[in-house]
Amino acid sequence: MARFTLPRDIYYGKGSLETLKTLKGKKAIVVVGGGSMKRFGFLDQVVDYLKEAGMEVQLFENVEPDPSVETVMKGAEAMRKFGPDWIVAMGGGSPIDAAKAMWAFYEYPDTTFEELITPFNFPELRQKAKFAAIPSTSGTATEVTAFSVITDYAKGIKYPLADFNITPDVAIVDPVLAETMPKSLTAYTGMDALTHAIEAYVSTLHTPFTDPLAIKAIQMVFEYLPASYDGDKEAREQMHYAQCLAGMAFSNALLGIVHSMAHKTGAVFSTGHITHGLANAMYLPYVIKYNAKTPEAMARYAEIARAAGLSGNTDEELMEALRAKINEFNQKLCIPKTLKEFGIQEEEFKEKIAAIAENAVGDACTGSNPRAITPAQMEQLFTAIYYGKEVDF
Ligand code: FE
Repeated sequence: MARFTLPRDIYYGKGSLETLKTLKGKKAIVVVGGGSMKRFGFLDQVVDYLKEAGMEVQLFENVEPDPSVETVMKGAEAMRKFGPDWIVAMGGGSPIDAAKAMWAFYEYPDTTFEELITPFNFPELRQKAKFAAIPSTSGTATEVTAFSVITDYAKGIKYPLADFNITPDVAIVDPVLAETMPKSLTAYTGMDALTHAIEAYVSTLHTPFTDPLAIKAIQMVFEYLPASYDGDKEAREQMHYAQCLAGMAFSNALLGIVHSMAHKTGAVFSTGHITHGLANAMYLPYVIKYNAKTPEAMARYAEIARAAGLSGNTDEELMEALRAKINEFNQKLCIPKTLKEFGIQEEEFKEKIAAIAENAVGDACTGSNPRAITPAQMEQLFTAIYYGKEVDF
């Protein structure tokens, strides 16, 4: 038996934030990040709508990027004191991810992260509260996914949480909130969404339920991301929906090694953080070439290329056309072609790559990649990305 899970309701369109007025409940806690939602007035709007719904409202503010275990525990504690029957999380991926974990510890104070990280092993949520998620960036799609990532800074590890219990009840996809994204964030989150859709489409766990969502998301990203990057509001709106469709696909079909590689290289180099979406965009064309050595994956990439209106006489030509299209996008979006160009020092790369490759193979996203990979192959792949070499192994 297979399962396909989405939020019960997805409200979308300009002004859809207003739907908060119709939530039924007594108390709502609003979980939010560092201040842009407040600065642009969206936080006040949310509070006003919830009050209009007859609810008592409390705020939990300042969730940091890459939210910590401590923040999650503090939030859960605030929830236990206040006793909300709605958790409303708004912002980029981080406050929504944090609120998902807070929800688990609110309902089950005695659980531990060690228990929660076993995939699809959560206790039954919704005993105390329901969950509404409102994204302000167009990429992570955490408003519709079964995932959350929490960082234990003391132990230096990330807890990837995965369970359909944390798929929100309500997602509000209001493009007005994403209009204020800076240009680079638009590029990185947009390429993250494209990677979600492509990895979900070729995933070993793809299904007839996830395929159409992935294909439509890919078509929309190809159509709208360049104009969205240039600030076109209509295109930004379409990108906000496209990333959500990609999220529905990958929440159910899972991802692949582009994400494994991005996860394990994000914070390991002394020269600075590699933003998630940028890492995905940079690695994607190389990984496609690697995966396409298996005929099944080659055929799937060719299907994507055909659906995107690209041309080629053979599956291989179509797969190459898809890679060329992604490279063209990366160039337009000022995304470097190689890790060297990004600024990673050669000495440090050589020193760390064996351990990184090993970690990337062990990442939770590797299992659903269409082609298996050994640590040695992973190291070869990273080396190709470092120097911009052809992938032919
Ligand atoms: Fe991602």
